[in-house]
Amino acid sequence: PSGMREIMLEVPKVYWSDIGGQGEVKARLKEAIQLPLENPSLFTSMGINPPKGVLLYGPPGCSKTLFAKALATESGLNFIAVKGPELFNKYVGESEKAVRNVFKRARQNSPSIIFFDEIDSLTTSRSSGNSGGSVSERVLAQLLTELDGIDQLCRVSVVAATNRPDIIDPALLRPGRFDRILYVPPPDFDSRCAIFDIQLKKMQVNSKDVTPNVLAEMTEGFSGAEVVSFCQEAAISAMEDDVNTKVVELKHFKQVRSGFKMHITKEMIQ
Ligand code: ATP
Repeated sequence: PSGMREIMLEVPKVYWSDIGGQGEVKARLKEAIQLPLENPSLFTSMGINPPKGVLLYGPPGCSKTLFAKALATESGLNFIAVKGPELFNKYVGESEKAVRNVFKRARQNSPSIIFFDEIDSLTTSRSSGNSGGSVSERVLAQLLTELDGIDQLCRVSVVAATNRPDIIDPALLRPGRFDRILYVPPPDFDSRCAIFDIQLKKMQVNSKDVTPNVLAEMTEGFSGAEVVSFCQEAAISAMEDDVNTKVVELKHFKQVRSGFKMHITKEMIQ
């Protein structure tokens, strides 16, 4: 990889209401990030350090990125997204500089939130170089330095995500770093209903037999992303059936279901 060309700054437009279900995770994230940002005195008056970094882990496609974006949207934070592997640069010193720049940019644009996706790529055990100075060790060390340097006055929040919590470097999880760890599970029945509810409002379905309940029953084990693509594939199937059709029927969902490939395996679930 050639490293990061530029640090993308965006103001997302994802609201809590765009995330179906997952109420428990929503509540805990609001408490960990929104509350301390909006009421810092609540924490300082009690002598509590608000959580600094939040680590979201869980199977792919289950709304970790959506959560980070919703936090930014709903609290009016600038959003800086970084994928772990993007930080690696073959030129000596460039990777550390990239990490420093991310935090610098975040401070300059505060209040802001840095979202580190695939944080597991920053682990020393994966290092390919010689011991004592591989790129991954230096990147990790720089990240730890930057995390330790953040204080509440910076108004910079940090959220990281991974599908592989088992290989996260323990140094990242010490107090004052990613010290709030939240599991984001696959959507349960109620959450799937809520996601279907959002999706069906954007589609034309035969509402007599196509209901969020019926579809949620059919999709045990699906990720949120799979629930969304299931709806899209059913609409495509309806169109293929009849190009003039405007309405998706239950039979189209059933057709798609029979060949649908799910990606969440037992090992990914806690
Ligand atoms: P990865 O680990 O692969 O990065 P992720 O957990 O970050 O995945 P997201 O990128 O947040 O997953 O979700 C992927 C897509 O799936 C979203 O853009 C959205 O379309 C859909 N999706 C996932 N969960 C939900 C949900 N709870 N409500 C609505 N849409 C969802």
